Amino acid sequence: MRRVRVLIIGSGPAGLSAALYTARAQFSTVVITGPQFGGQIATTHEVDNFPGFPEGITGPELVERMKQQAERFGAEFVYDVVTDVDLSTGSPFTVTTASETFVADVIIATNGADPRKLGVPGEREYVGRGVSYCATCDGFFFRGKKVVVVGGGDSALQEALFLTKFADVTVIHRRDTFRASTALQTRARANPKISYIMDSVVEAINANEHGVVKSVTLRNVKTGEVTEYPTDGVFIFIGYDPNGGLFKGQIATDADGYVLVDQLMRTNVDGVFAAGEIRDRIWRQAATAAGEGVAAALSATHWLEERAGELEPIEGELSEQTAGD
Ligand code: NAP
Repeated sequence: MRRVRVLIIGSGPAGLSAALYTARAQFSTVVITGPQFGGQIATTHEVDNFPGFPEGITGPELVERMKQQAERFGAEFVYDVVTDVDLSTGSPFTVTTASETFVADVIIATNGADPRKLGVPGEREYVGRGVSYCATCDGFFFRGKKVVVVGGGDSALQEALFLTKFADVTVIHRRDTFRASTALQTRARANPKISYIMDSVVEAINANEHGVVKSVTLRNVKTGEVTEYPTDGVFIFIGYDPNGGLFKGQIATDADGYVLVDQLMRTNVDGVFAAGEIRDRIWRQAATAAGEGVAAALSATHWLEERAGELEPIEGELSEQTAGD
């Protein structure tokens, strides 16, 4: 059983930024990376919109740099997956990973959300080779090309509109009406660069001999007709699922499972903070997640400082605490 001051669950931009701040404030900080170090951004080939990198940076390099910066101040990274969190005792909390148990005064939950997958052949294989879940990240690479957007909600139509800056867009939806707001539908209908294939599902994503997407196989759910539709890119927006399973029944969430926080990134459990996509259904940007991670870390720092006299000493942690600035 390891005693730590701050335990951060998740290693995307929110978790990495939080680690930098709590470690720099000289609180012993452990980050449990989760299954994918760096989170969703680590799977993005090129990041053009993270401030401070005028030439752009690859997702993996961005998260590696953020990690090194946090490590410089003493944050420790554990490549493991959290399997259980017990908040019932109040702080300190017990967090169990696949191979270790931690006891932490503060938890910062930054374990993100995952875009829902279609689960069809070719989807997983061609991520980054034509299949994308992020128009803001990847739209630019489809300048002058043809892409399809799968989905019929607000995300699908909003991202379809964004993608028209670069490409001709065909929206593929499984029904004959959209779930998206009327306002978005009206804007999308008015855009001459968007066309529609309704009542159709993607059954497979196909690639050329170089392993780059060339078409989708579609099935019309009303007629049963199967066709192959040529495209350079497949953008999938069929919803997101916050990774809140660990906290189910322990932390207040909205109806879709997004963790609820106040302005100070505090959840309803004293000593538990949350940042990034586990609580943000709207912005979903690396930079906004990083900012939220900082805010959560500063709140956590203040929380710990207010209780400085009561905290059990931890080996290796400096007794004189100073807040990050
Ligand atoms: P969503 O509202 O859940 O819509 C998902 C869409 O994907 C639906 O049209 C659904 O079809 C379709 N879909 C789901 N599973 C599918 C599958 N396996 N195969 C094919 N299609 C599938 O998700 P979202 O659009 O990401 O929006 C999530 C939340 O964020 C919503 O509350 C939304 O209002 C909000 N949001 C708001 C804005 C905005 O205000 N501008 C922007 C983005 C998101 P069906 O319609 O047939 O179920």
